[in-house]
Amino acid sequence: MTFLLLLTGGVFAVAFLVLAFVSHFEREFVARGRAALFAVVLPLPYLLTAWFDAPLRAILGWTLLVATAAFGVSLVVPGRRPRIPAVAAGARIDERTIMFSRAALEPGGGRFETYYELHPEHRPADDRFRAKPGLMSERSVKYEPLSFAAAAASFAAVEHLTPLTEGDVADVRRDIAPDHATRFLKGWSHKLGAVACGVTATRPVHYYSVKGRGPRWGETIEPEHRWAVAIAVEMDHRQMASAPDGPTIMESAQQYLDGGAIAVQMAEAIRRLGWPAEAHIDANYKVICPLVARDAGLGEIGRMGLLMTPHLGPRVRLVVVTTDLPLVADRAADEPSVLDFCAICEKCADVCPSEAIPRGPRAEADGRRRWRIDQDACFAYWCSVGTDCGQCVKVCPYSHPDTAVHAVVRSGLRRNGWTRRVALTMDDLLYGRRPTTLSPPRWLRG
Ligand code: SF4
Ligand code: SF4
Repeated sequence: MTFLLLLTGGVFAVAFLVLAFVSHFEREFVARGRAALFAVVLPLPYLLTAWFDAPLRAILGWTLLVATAAFGVSLVVPGRRPRIPAVAAGARIDERTIMFSRAALEPGGGRFETYYELHPEHRPADDRFRAKPGLMSERSVKYEPLSFAAAAASFAAVEHLTPLTEGDVADVRRDIAPDHATRFLKGWSHKLGAVACGVTATRPVHYYSVKGRGPRWGETIEPEHRWAVAIAVEMDHRQMASAPDGPTIMESAQQYLDGGAIAVQMAEAIRRLGWPAEAHIDANYKVICPLVARDAGLGEIGRMGLLMTPHLGPRVRLVVVTTDLPLVADRAADEPSVLDFCAICEKCADVCPSEAIPRGPRAEADGRRRWRIDQDACFAYWCSVGTDCGQCVKVCPYSHPDTAVHAVVRSGLRRNGWTRRVALTMDDLLYGRRPTTLSPPRWLRG
């Protein structure tokens, strides 16, 4: 009995000391302190019970050990799959209506007049964000010259990639076994820096209905390619943890560039094999990346409207290559545990400064059941702070680094609903319901 009590207390102490150690290297200093406190407090009941004389020690000891064992078993027993209503196909979206397209409209220009004749309901909200300093503005609240200049440089580099998204297709067409081509493209994407890559057959709903940015503004988009390759690149944890400060937009822009470079390379290589291909990268999309990535098996779409990948949550950027090169499709994501976790979590909604993230269950929007964020409110906040905020991404429990400790927790989230509730409580206790902004790497500090 005494041995079992000391052993159990020791296991708790070691587990939380490991967590404190890991948190130290992740620079999560609040979590480090709280984990260290747990490492001291949690073993106490077991150690004190071991001190009692028999028969009290036996009664209390067995009660404690049985309760601990039952709790442990309850965390690993597979539960029923949460019942999540199927996702409807939904209607195609006019890209002109999204916030980035509306932000690019210039007062006095023809597009400006045309758009607000079509959508007068957007004019008041758009006038409000136009009155603010703007994204990456020197007048914005979070203006900081170095990180803002670096972000602007990355966006400028992405613009240079735009002409490479499409191109001539080689006259000679190479026939390659679909499984070989798929394996190659996935392997190559990882070699180039991707963290996930999947393939889906395209569906009309993947495509915007009308082009909303660039020289083809207002053109109808016809779904043209048979296959889509979705690629995810990681956004750095330390930089995102400093959200909403300058390093956040610097990292966003960098990953638009890194992901964009992978996509244009892949599309060019496919065209050289004699098959049409197009890269969909920042400011040059014909497809809605999260929808494609979901169908390509990369993850589920969570409360904040972003793709939630199994290993990094929403802390990724997405690009897509569409093509007619025959490929093998992956299975669409089917991980209701993520949606179930989002249903109970709401941390992103709690922390969102513009109250743009909805609470409660998913609702019908654009013919789909989903959580729809208030993009007007979100973008207006960006125009005040000057960065793309990212506080929702920062606080998401799925955004923790993909280390062994977090991987164990994430795998537990798939087990059962009780485990998800315990994990959420622990996340709140360790990191806080509203986690603090972490300082970025030293070279990024002012
Ligand atoms: S913070 Fe919570 S509710 Fe929001 S996306 Fe992440 S898991 Fe879902
Ligand atoms: S980016 Fe910021 S403002 Fe926008 S939804 Fe996330 S937390 Fe809210």
